[in-house]
Amino acid sequence: MSYRAWFQCINPQCGATYPLNSIVYQCQQCHSLLEVQHDMAALANRGAAAWMKLFEDRYKSNAWPYGSGVWGKKEWILPQISDDNIVSVYEGGTNLFWAERFGKVIGVDDLWLKLCGNTHSGSFKDLGMTVLVSQVKQMISEGAPIKAVACASTGDTSAALATYCAAAGIQSVVLLPRGKISIAQLIQPVSNDALVLYLDTDFDGCMKLVQEITKDPTLYLANSMNSLRVEGQKTVGIEIVQQFDWEVPDVMIIPGGNLGNVSALGKGLLMMKDLGVIAKLPRIVVAQAQRANPLYLSYKRNFESFEPIQAQKTLASAIQIGNPVSFEKAVRTLKQFNGIVEQATEEELADAAALGDRTGMFNCPHTGVALAVLIKLLKAGKIDKSDRVVVISTAHGLKFVEMKVKYHQRELEFPSRHANQPIELPARLDAVKEALHKALQTKRQFKL
Ligand SMILES: *Cc1c(COP(=O)(O)O)cnc(C)c1O
Ligand SMILES: [Zn+2]
Repeated sequence: MSYRAWFQCINPQCGATYPLNSIVYQCQQCHSLLEVQHDMAALANRGAAAWMKLFEDRYKSNAWPYGSGVWGKKEWILPQISDDNIVSVYEGGTNLFWAERFGKVIGVDDLWLKLCGNTHSGSFKDLGMTVLVSQVKQMISEGAPIKAVACASTGDTSAALATYCAAAGIQSVVLLPRGKISIAQLIQPVSNDALVLYLDTDFDGCMKLVQEITKDPTLYLANSMNSLRVEGQKTVGIEIVQQFDWEVPDVMIIPGGNLGNVSALGKGLLMMKDLGVIAKLPRIVVAQAQRANPLYLSYKRNFESFEPIQAQKTLASAIQIGNPVSFEKAVRTLKQFNGIVEQATEEELADAAALGDRTGMFNCPHTGVALAVLIKLLKAGKIDKSDRVVVISTAHGLKFVEMKVKYHQRELEFPSRHANQPIELPARLDAVKEALHKALQTKRQFKL
């Protein structure tokens, strides 16, 4: 059986198509975004049960490249790519765990965290970048004159791009907003041999520049307007359902910035439904930082209008985006998934992240936004205590320790209600005993 996929314009009035090995990021007829379209009739020839069995058999196996959470579903991702051109570091297959104690504190019984940050470069961006860089390698092998792959980034896209390009021996170029990313995020592409351009602007400014420089066809654009990345990222929803033995949870909460990831989440779930693997869809919630909330503002107007905003500095720096490229795709997804958009203030996101940490998580601030939104929606009665809820944790907390340090040192602009500080003592038994006695006398306060 041969499976096929191609780029297709998302504008239903247009529908222009392009082969996956053409260097095109937007529709050349109408300038809408493109998406990868699969030959669904061919995929449907293999029944749902056979797909589930195939995916189960490959899951985390050592049969390269199928042990990867992305390439284990290759036929649904990039069916025509040659295995020789796949650039994989065994991404995906991340843990999904029952957050029992946090759930008890906030009042939901069946809460789960999907730790997408437990991957090579520490964020879900790896899922998409393995697909994009593999396709680039394939195009280079076919003679395409690509000299380098470039992206603008809030820090995680560039880390993932640099990783996969270094693994493939392809030059990467990353445009980063100076002072608006963490130290880990800066040193990742530096270590992975990227050409790092550190610019006095914000993400939206970097994005404008990278779109200009990649008009040169020898510089390939890796931002999420390139719909190849969505194909890899869409495995997160599929993988969650697979991890629940093919049962669909009630609600999924995902932090949103450029809005590629929520579109990807929806795309994977819809593909499962179209192919008969699942019968229902979850509700999808997009969580935004109040300081970078253009989708939330549009949601409040029933999506009747959209205005880009100037995003303000937020602790959730990877979603500090005022003009999201995938706005239209995200709105389409929200309409299909009975969607909700909610926002969180700096204090809400930092406290929620820290409260989660006190129950054994180690949250990045974006996951904090999602947790804060969960708390708000529970209070508002929009999520039920008995719902099975999955919070998508987008990055590893270790990439964002500066924020945690400031929180626990109480250096932020609000009181840190869950701050915990090391006790500095002389290294003497009496001093240690006294400190222990004092600290363990009272049970630690542990409330919302
Ligand atoms: C990129 C990123 C997001 C936002 O994803 P979008 O596709 O831009 O909406 C959220 N959290 C982290 C940690 C990210 O790196
Ligand atoms: Zn078009």
